[in-house]
This record gives sequence, structure tokens and C-alpha cells, in this order.
Amino acid sequence: MSPAISFSERTEYYISLESKYGAHNYHPIPVVLSKGLGVYVWDVDGKKYFDYLSGYSAVNQGHCHPRIVNALIEQAQRLTLTSRAFHNDQLGVYEAFMSDFFGYDKVLPMNTGVEAVETAIKLCRRWAYSVKGIPEGAAKIIVCANNFHGRTTTVISFSSDPDSKKQFGPFTPGFESIPYNDLNALGNALRDSNVAGFLVEPIQGEAGVIVPDDGFLRKAKEYCEMANVLFIGDEIQTGLARTGKMLCCDHESVRPDILILGKALSGGMFPISAVLADDPVMLTIKPGEHGSTYGGNPLACFVATEALKVLREENLAQNAEQMGALLRDEIRALQSPLISDVRGKGLLNAIEIKHSDAHAAWEICLLLKEYGLLAKPTHGDKIRLAPPLVIQREQILESVEILKRSLEEFESR
Ligand code: PLP
Repeated sequence: MSPAISFSERTEYYISLESKYGAHNYHPIPVVLSKGLGVYVWDVDGKKYFDYLSGYSAVNQGHCHPRIVNALIEQAQRLTLTSRAFHNDQLGVYEAFMSDFFGYDKVLPMNTGVEAVETAIKLCRRWAYSVKGIPEGAAKIIVCANNFHGRTTTVISFSSDPDSKKQFGPFTPGFESIPYNDLNALGNALRDSNVAGFLVEPIQGEAGVIVPDDGFLRKAKEYCEMANVLFIGDEIQTGLARTGKMLCCDHESVRPDILILGKALSGGMFPISAVLADDPVMLTIKPGEHGSTYGGNPLACFVATEALKVLREENLAQNAEQMGALLRDEIRALQSPLISDVRGKGLLNAIEIKHSDAHAAWEICLLLKEYGLLAKPTHGDKIRLAPPLVIQREQILESVEILKRSLEEFESR
């Protein structure tokens, strides 16, 4: 029996409010959520779902993790914001914790992911002029085709997605795009002595979970070292245990010169991001030259510390590794003719849908929703499967059953 794709009056009401009063810059799956716990979310009618998006990997620790919620409440009752005009008793403690946790001299705290990317770009350019000696205004940063690093004007300047750019120009110069996972192209681009940095996602998440060849990151880092170019790792989506290691670059023992973190740094509470680097890079920015009212606020410092402790103490990287392998194996075992590829690392995965209907992935996501699993297509025919890292074996098996039913249902139409 086909499930009727129907919406309750309540669901329609909330969606209509967003449509009437909100900007139309998103196209969500038609579900209205009001509660979350662990790997589950509930809609306004009380229906329960597996969350296979995890807030685009911001909720690695699971929804409303009690330890992180408690940290939020505890610090919110004490002190939330001082601005950086004054010191506070959380910032230094957090910075020391982060420095030790990730092995960098220093941390620069920001809020959203894209702000951290912007910060990394500024740091890289500053280093290029003040340390590497590139003539001012000439620094170049190499980026990869099909990247996703956020939505500010500078960051979309080097996007290859026309929807991100159309009628938003003029754009920021100083970026050169090469194909992802292409060491030859990187080697050629690095011949230019004005290159200051190579900005890369260790796995391209938004592009559809594109995993580069083994050895790509390691070789790319070596090439950058030989060319005296900073390797800038955007681990906003891939980091923090998502791919089965604390950082995705850890799979190849690569230590970025500039590391960018966001999303799960707050366990989904509110935007917290960070840029980490050693002194020769970080100290090129001086007081008054960069900042943010909320960056490094005591609430964020306390919450991020707890979010990181949860990742480590609950062994979530290891669980991501094991559950991810199980998920991919189980999906492959379905041998569905609708799935042309299953790929990923840890719990950052995608399936690629092969069908003449260009909207097949969207339709399958609607069926998944009906059967109790939330996922969203990316780039048309790919469905990202990235549940919170607290997911357990039985839940993976149940989810794959839901996927199986939905695929069969779609095929039988
Ligand atoms: N970088 C990467 C790799 C991302 O996946 C994202 C968001 O999806 C961003 C940057 C931007 O983060 P935010 O949306 O918090 O600005």
C-alpha cells in the first residue's frame, strides 16, 4: 500500500507561516519538527523520525545531548557575553583546552562556519604578505571545483555553483579553482609564487560526499609544504568525529596549517566556530585587525568544551567508523537498481540515485519521511546519509529497512 503523502493542518499552518513571512531561500522537506533527542526528531503531530541529516552534521553528539544542554544552562545563568572589550573567565580556559585537544598553538574563536572560513582566508593572506613576502594585493588562494565553504560574498566568489552566484557579483578576486582530487592540477597551480594557500574540504560534503583518493590529502599537504603554501583544512562538516576520526585529515595523518571548525563544535546549540593555527600564522593578525562581537563569548566557550568532551568520552569517532561501515554494507546488500553508488567515510555518506526522473531523489526522500526517516537530496540525484554519531546497530538496521521499503515503493510506482 502506498503511503499517502499528506500533511496535517498543523504542519500546513507552520509551513504557511514560513512561506508568508520568511525569505524563500530554502526548499525544505515538508516536515515541521518540534522535538529532538539523540538520533530522533519528532514533528508537530508527534511522529518520530530518524534524523539522517543531523543539522548538516552540526548535531554529531545527538539532539539535545543532556550534558551539552546542562552546560548551556549552567553557563547561561552565570555569564553569556562580555564582548572582547573585556576578558572573561571562560575564554582562556577554552583556548587552552582547544589548543591541547587539537595540537595547535592558538585558536581564534568565531561563530558561523563561513565566518571561520573568512577568518582563515584573512589569516592566510596576512601571512602571505607579512611572512612569505608576496607583493601586497597579489596573494592567491587555490580552491577546488564544486567546493562548499559557505555563503558570504567572498566565499561565493570562488564557488562553482551558479545558483550560489547568479546576480550576487561583483566578486572578490584572488582565488584559483582546480579540479578536486587532482594532484597534477595542484602541482601546476602551485608553480605560481604568489600562491599563499590551498583551501580544501577533506571530503566534499555539499557536493555529494565526494571522497578523494587515498593519499590525496597527504600528497597535497606535501606539495604545499614544498611550495611554502598554507594547507587550509575546512573541517566544518567533516571534522569532529563525523568521518570516524576526530578530524578527517587524521585518516592520512595530515595536520592542516590552518584548521577550520564549526557546526558540531556546539553540538547543535548555536553557531560556534574556530580557526586554529600555530604562532607564525596566528600572530600575524594584531589587536583591532579582526574580530566579532560574539566570537569567544563565555557561553560558547563553555558549551564547545562540553561538546568536545562528549565526542571524546563517548568514543563517537569510533562509533561513527563502525556504524558507517555497517550502514554502507547494509545498503550495498540491498542491491537496489535505483542506487548507482554508495560512498562515504564514517557516518558521512551518500547514495546516488539512478533514474530517468530528475526528481527521483526528492521523491524518495518524501517516501523516507513517510516511513520515518529524514534525509535531503543534495545536487539533485544524491541523498546524504549522516545520522548523529550516537546511532546504534539496531537503529542502523531499522533505518536500512526504511530505505529498502521506500526504494521498493518508488520502483513500484
Ligand atoms: N564549510 C563547509 C565544508 C560546510 O559544509 C559549511 C556548511 O555546510 C560551511 C563551511 C558553512 O558553514 P555555516 O553554514 O555555519 O556558515
